Amino acid sequence: MAEQHVIIGGGPAATNAIETIRQVDGGKSQITLISDEPAHSRMALPYWLAGQIPREHTMTADDAYFAKLKVEARVGVRAQKIDTKGKSVTLSDGKSVKFDNLLIATGSRPAELPVAGADLPGVGPLWTIENTQCVLDAAKENKKPRVLMIGSGFIGFIMLNAMHKRGWQLTVVEMEKHVLPRMLDDQAAAIAETWLRGQGVDLHCGTTVKRITEKGKARVAELADGTSVETDLVIIATGVKPNVELAVESGIDADQNGISVNNRLQTSAPNVYAAGDVAVGPVLHSTERAVHAIQPTAVDHGRIAGSNMAGRQVDYPGSLSMNILDVCGLQNASFGDWSDTSAEAMTISNPGGYIYRNLLWNGDKLSGAVFVGRANDMGMLTDVGMVKGIMQTGTSFGSWKQFLQENPFDIRRPYVALKVAQKLTGATLLGTPSRTRGFQYQNMKSGPAVKASHAVFMETSKG
Ligand SMILES: Cc1cc2nc3c(=O)[nH]c(=O)nc-3n(C[C@H](O)[C@H](O)[C@H](O)COP(=O)(O)OP(=O)(O)OC[C@H]3O[C@@H](n4cnc5c(N)ncnc54)[C@H](O)[C@@H]3O)c2cc1C
Repeated sequence: MAEQHVIIGGGPAATNAIETIRQVDGGKSQITLISDEPAHSRMALPYWLAGQIPREHTMTADDAYFAKLKVEARVGVRAQKIDTKGKSVTLSDGKSVKFDNLLIATGSRPAELPVAGADLPGVGPLWTIENTQCVLDAAKENKKPRVLMIGSGFIGFIMLNAMHKRGWQLTVVEMEKHVLPRMLDDQAAAIAETWLRGQGVDLHCGTTVKRITEKGKARVAELADGTSVETDLVIIATGVKPNVELAVESGIDADQNGISVNNRLQTSAPNVYAAGDVAVGPVLHSTERAVHAIQPTAVDHGRIAGSNMAGRQVDYPGSLSMNILDVCGLQNASFGDWSDTSAEAMTISNPGGYIYRNLLWNGDKLSGAVFVGRANDMGMLTDVGMVKGIMQTGTSFGSWKQFLQENPFDIRRPYVALKVAQKLTGATLLGTPSRTRGFQYQNMKSGPAVKASHAVFMETSKG
């Protein structure tokens, strides 16, 4: 009988695992997908919210694509229980499915806000297709709604940015002393806050929401500092929780931070893997384990897990902590151990010009970095990409460290001299060149290029 792979979840970790299994086994095994939502990419939701793409462009697979990959897709069904000894998963439709290999790619969900009024209509998270649809529906009645966002993390700000593009009236409440507390240091955040206020975003940092009440069609958030905010919509963006319950209840090694996995993405149970936002995985150039709840890590995890499930053993070198974010026209990025105050630092700060860079060192290697710069600062954007590559390759600077100290804006020269691009292009995750996915929603044809720079990529993707 053919080997049976079961995948729980329909996000990027799951779809990349499926595609990798098929690349390795060419269709020999049976694959069953269990997902309560249609296969889609959460990171595409802000583009839909901003009105830049239609809803269907957030989809990453459909029935025809799954049929092509010989996947039995049970969409709209939840996995309820895993029996690791009997090797079966009980489903919400009363059925169960047997597995030889199981992947738990259940992602994470928004944390709840334990205050009165958090369950009122017009108050909730902005995390799923359904949540996004609700917010867009509300904006049909009220073209320029007032939106209060509680919490100011990376994902919250991605959604804030989309709402800013629509011209909505935005207010943020953040309990920490500054915005983006898990992405920017004090100096970077101060620049981002000045920029946001200049863009008309009302910020309330260092305070919390005590209660939310109704006032006619409006909502009123009462803050701990005694002030209040009247608004049309309240978005709760106060953090996420990994969906670990299935693993915990079946005795797999996991806690509230996530499911523990080794370098092959295997959990403590034989033939059970975990990947993506739910997995506490290897960290690049480190012995640490962490959840890096970002799309690139979910994709890598999925591909590594898929390869190992299909019998082609491969170890994951680990993921790099990175967040790159457009905050209403100001670019912000942080990498690695960006908050390590004990590390040797090279800092450039020009708050008036909205420029900030902090490079952190471990000997002659970069261990962390923070960048802030205007979206039209092309130099900064290419430097962000180069620093990412330098950190991914773990490149030692040697005497180029001194050069960078004297020429802090000239990352390009050491990048070229140290052959970082060559190292990056020679590196593959699975030891084979990556392939295009070959999925277009309902076989749609690509639209025409929006501009010349876009056309370059369209031509490349044809090859
Ligand atoms: C609005 C938004 C914007 C984002 N933007 C970015 C960005 O710009 N860059 C970036 O790097 N990252 C971004 N992220 C984060 C990124 O989307 C996640 O890191 C990524 O989706 C994680 O992939 P995953 O496959 O692990 O989990 P998910 O994408 O969350 O998929 C898990 C799926 O499993 C389903 N599921 C859970 N439990 C069960 C069960 N018991 N049975 C069946 N199905 C189940 C869930 O409903 C979900 O559909 C964004 C996230 C959000 C919400």
